[in-house]
Amino acid sequence: MLKKIRAWIRLIVGLEFISGTNQDGSTLYVVGLKEDNEVWDEVRVTFKGQALPGVKCHFLKMDCEDIPCSHIFVVLKFLGFDIIPRCCVVDRWTMGATAAFRSDKNNDPNVWSEHMVRYRSLRNMGSDAFFEAARKLEQTKNVMDFLNGVLDKGSASHENIVAADFGPMPTHFLSSNQPLEKRVLDPDEIRAKEAPSKRQRPFRETLNANN
Ligand SMILES: [Zn+2]
Repeated sequence: MLKKIRAWIRLIVGLEFISGTNQDGSTLYVVGLKEDNEVWDEVRVTFKGQALPGVKCHFLKMDCEDIPCSHIFVVLKFLGFDIIPRCCVVDRWTMGATAAFRSDKNNDPNVWSEHMVRYRSLRNMGSDAFFEAARKLEQTKNVMDFLNGVLDKGSASHENIVAADFGPMPTHFLSSNQPLEKRVLDPDEIRAKEAPSKRQRPFRETLNANN
């Protein structure tokens, strides 16, 4: 997935931002090929104040492959984004993704998700709080002491004996140490792909084929 995203991001060098038109709460951006101004695509970006609740390209790559296309990246670059906004990241690529298959391991999915929801809110808040605390040595020490207290409590409970060597871990990491209940077949052999052909299909042809 990341490979594909990288490929789309690389393609933005051949694209340019042409125009943007405001239409009640959203803006329609036109992105075109640098060498050929007849080939262009429209990206609709919905704004809610400073937030971006939606980005949609009529090329529909996002809908087919669940990743933003190069047109969207051109617009994000134009809007000054350094990171891919949440509206362009489909749930399946996030920690909020649900498992496609039931796990063989004996962990309860409800326990897992509640644990992870709490863990994520702590982590998000913690990152800001640690940054604040790190401004002063005294504050840093206090936070360290508090965290050490949490770690000591965690390693004292019998549930976390395995994790004690590495510090506390979410439940799903602990379960990865448990043997599978069923016998597992050997995975399919993965053969190396052949070298790619030298001439790759130019982007413009791909665009024309899709229009
Ligand atoms: Zn697109």
